[in-house]
Amino acid sequence: MSAAPRPTGDLFARRHIGPQPADRQHMLDVVGYPDTDALMDAAIPEAIRWTGGLDLPPAATEAQALAELRELAGRNTVATSMIGIGYHGTHTPPVIQRNVLENPAWYTAYTPYQPEISQGRLEALLNFQTMVTDLTGMATANASMLDEGTAAAEAMTLARRAAKTKSPVYVVDAETLPQTLAVIRNRAEPLGIDVQVRDLATQELPAQFFGLHLQYPGASGVVRDLGGPVAAAHARGALVAVAADLLALALLRTPGEFGADIAAGTTQRFGVPMGFGGPHAGYLAVRAGLERLLPGRLVGVSRDADGAPAYRLALQTREQHIRREKATSNICTAQVLLAVMASMYAVYHGPDGLRAIAARTHGHATRLAAALRAGNVTLAAADFFDTVTAVVPGRAAAVVAAAAEAGVNLRLVDEDAVGIACDETTVDAHLAAVCAAFGVAAPPESAPDALPAALRRDSDFLTHPVFTAHHSETAMLRYLRRLADADYALDRGMIPLGSCTMKLNATAEMAAVTWPEFAQIHPYAPAAQTGGYAALVAQLEGWLAEVTGYDAVSVQPNAGSQGELAGLLAIRAYHRDNGEAGRDVCLIPSSAHGTNAASAVMAGMRVVVVACDAEGNVDLADLDAKIAAHAASLAAIMVTYPSTHGVYETGIAQLCAKVHDAGGQVYVDGANLNALLGFAKPGRFGADVSHLNLHKTFCIPHGGGGPGVGPVAVRAHLAPYLPGDPLAGDAHAVSAAPHGSAGILPISWAYLRMMGPDGLTDATAVAVLAANYVAARLRGHYPVLYAGNKGLVAHECILDLRPLTRSTGVTVDDVAKRLIDYGFHAPTMSFPVAGTLMVEPTESEDLAELDRFCDAMIAIRAEIDQVGAGAWPAGDNPLANAPHTAAMVTADEWSHPYPRTLAAFPGGAGAAGKYWPPVRRVDGAYGDRNLVCACPPPEAFAP
Ligand SMILES: *Cc1c(COP(=O)(O)O)cnc(C)c1O
Repeated sequence: MSAAPRPTGDLFARRHIGPQPADRQHMLDVVGYPDTDALMDAAIPEAIRWTGGLDLPPAATEAQALAELRELAGRNTVATSMIGIGYHGTHTPPVIQRNVLENPAWYTAYTPYQPEISQGRLEALLNFQTMVTDLTGMATANASMLDEGTAAAEAMTLARRAAKTKSPVYVVDAETLPQTLAVIRNRAEPLGIDVQVRDLATQELPAQFFGLHLQYPGASGVVRDLGGPVAAAHARGALVAVAADLLALALLRTPGEFGADIAAGTTQRFGVPMGFGGPHAGYLAVRAGLERLLPGRLVGVSRDADGAPAYRLALQTREQHIRREKATSNICTAQVLLAVMASMYAVYHGPDGLRAIAARTHGHATRLAAALRAGNVTLAAADFFDTVTAVVPGRAAAVVAAAAEAGVNLRLVDEDAVGIACDETTVDAHLAAVCAAFGVAAPPESAPDALPAALRRDSDFLTHPVFTAHHSETAMLRYLRRLADADYALDRGMIPLGSCTMKLNATAEMAAVTWPEFAQIHPYAPAAQTGGYAALVAQLEGWLAEVTGYDAVSVQPNAGSQGELAGLLAIRAYHRDNGEAGRDVCLIPSSAHGTNAASAVMAGMRVVVVACDAEGNVDLADLDAKIAAHAASLAAIMVTYPSTHGVYETGIAQLCAKVHDAGGQVYVDGANLNALLGFAKPGRFGADVSHLNLHKTFCIPHGGGGPGVGPVAVRAHLAPYLPGDPLAGDAHAVSAAPHGSAGILPISWAYLRMMGPDGLTDATAVAVLAANYVAARLRGHYPVLYAGNKGLVAHECILDLRPLTRSTGVTVDDVAKRLIDYGFHAPTMSFPVAGTLMVEPTESEDLAELDRFCDAMIAIRAEIDQVGAGAWPAGDNPLANAPHTAAMVTADEWSHPYPRTLAAFPGGAGAAGKYWPPVRRVDGAYGDRNLVCACPPPEAFAP
């Protein structure tokens, strides 16, 4: 906690925290405090200050933590998984594993909101969208969903928005994956949607319904003609969503060809390890006409200032950042890194490769089926792709146990049926072991196809050259390198994004993610094989409970938005169990993150906005008024702490008390926990529930827009409503796997383990010191918008550009783009206040980088003054033309009223290590008017 040097030895905290002791002293001098204790005493309100320390194990070194992780990994058993239900063995091409999954150029990037520095991952995501639309036969796909279960749930709400009928009934095919059904049900209930499960082979469809969910192939493996159900649904004005397996679609007629409106699913088996449930990229695609209703991020093609093609995120206006409670969904962080991997798997294999993998997988399944039939075992379906369900009355458990004994996990469907899924990794030895478990002879050399001729795919896919151009390892490596080089990520420099906490993602934290004992585990593997994961999850949940002051934690939500939903659903369920179902109003301050309002609506709540006062604090008088107006119906308040304005509001304890007195619950959005850890515990200062963002405070890298983990933490009275195992019929499941994106939990485990209680507390103090240092250095050049106690900010500060914009015409956009020329990623733009920049330096940036940033901002201020003074015209100056590309500054013509050196190397920046954006400023609106969301033909890039 103090600035005095500690005997840290080789402790990790010294590496994680950028400013070294002498630098901290300098920063403290600038901020005006003798030590960090004094600074934190002044900054954090007395009423919430936690002085009891953190009851965590003392810090381990990197070597110790890795050894402990090895020990935990050793308690997991890597078996051959033939359980299926959406999770399959797959070979991650090593060139993709090392150069994407294990490459900080990809995993430390931020969401591509600044398109000029994100062209590489935008291209990879456009490949992903093209891959999904090609395989599904749909018109438009988004750039990933969180998993298949949540994608299916989003398909349901999309269908409801688009359907003409007002019926509340959503029909779900009995062949739907059971965990998907659990997630759909949990999403449907608060929205008043009536989910009706139908066996389409034997049961009639209801007279009225707004949507129909089909699984293709079905959970039993069966492949059915979807034409009948699609026509029947359309005849009733309902939409049809098809959850389809992408590998099967290499051989099968597409959902699009059946007339489906929506396709949803997962891309896990395209080279992404199972990871005990995640992370993997879900997908969602729609037919033409529905693209403006599609939730999530959508990459599109637009053009830059020279008219050259350039990618950027399209149709942002649908999203929760802008639409808030009217947004299409609360999804924010998605699964970019995993979508990049899946798309690169398609680039690596190409259409012929995918067809061959699908055919081989199918061949294994047909041979297995032949062997079972020959042994007089009945099969549930004659037509199938990769999964065979064997009917063995009364013997299922014995068969599954015998196979497990031989190292192969099968699916225990019920006491009479066993599911066996083949995949890319299946070999003859696996089939032999399965046959032995059933007591039948080994399979024949070959067997007839089990795909009906009428359902065979005859349409092309992946015809774009990108899917055939990189089939040598050399070409693939260079393609990955070229795209990575186009982007700016944390491996190049600071990403000072307020509210996003872009801190160090240390290599030691990342190491365990690709160990087979963590990566190659099916989420529904037998508990006897997953002891290491169980221990790791329990420890991590316990540590998170300790640092937040809550009683119970679930790591299931796979993004912050999903943690919000889980937390609000817990509040809803709690009120209902207390006989107060009428409590449905959620108070949300006007400054809140857009996901808050969107999540409240998804939880069946009505959003009532509470005003903020001139200092940016929740206006307690308006809060009183809103509580009075909605006293009987008050469900909750949802506040971010420290506030999204980056201030420790002193009224927080009072706010909690007021809401509790009125019978409401307090939700504290924990995305800003980096300003609290060790100094305050939301569970102890009055909150009932929070979500945390492990991809912010707890070092999971942002992946270019995901993965994330959004654990939900609650006090004891809400613990019964935490999400649990979807397959155990858990009513509160928000993700398809029991522990969500379990595969990346070792990252946060390692962070907590290596920092220890003192390191974590120190990190908070230095994060707050760094923000106040930046504020102190920049205050004379840009007004710092809000401050709390004694003029201090918390872990981020808002720079107000509006007065400068009024007097000079230079906008936040201009400054953000000019920062690229100086070698920086822009701060958060226009959130939570339009026309401002929110800077969050984090504890991981060292003093040299903090100063480089401040110097750049000060130099930019001088440039703004030049524009204001008329030295440069408003439309032709280094700010208006930023960012400057290499092509622009080396062009034979240079007509601008400032030198090329100032354009490219401002502020004394040298050529060494210079980041060159590949495109000039991107015109977002043009691309929204001319929506193109698949790979453009190569001719588009001809000079
Ligand atoms: C990041 C953030 C969220 C959303 O988290 P995701 O993981 O992107 O869904 C919610 N609230 C605040 C304040 C945030 O900063």
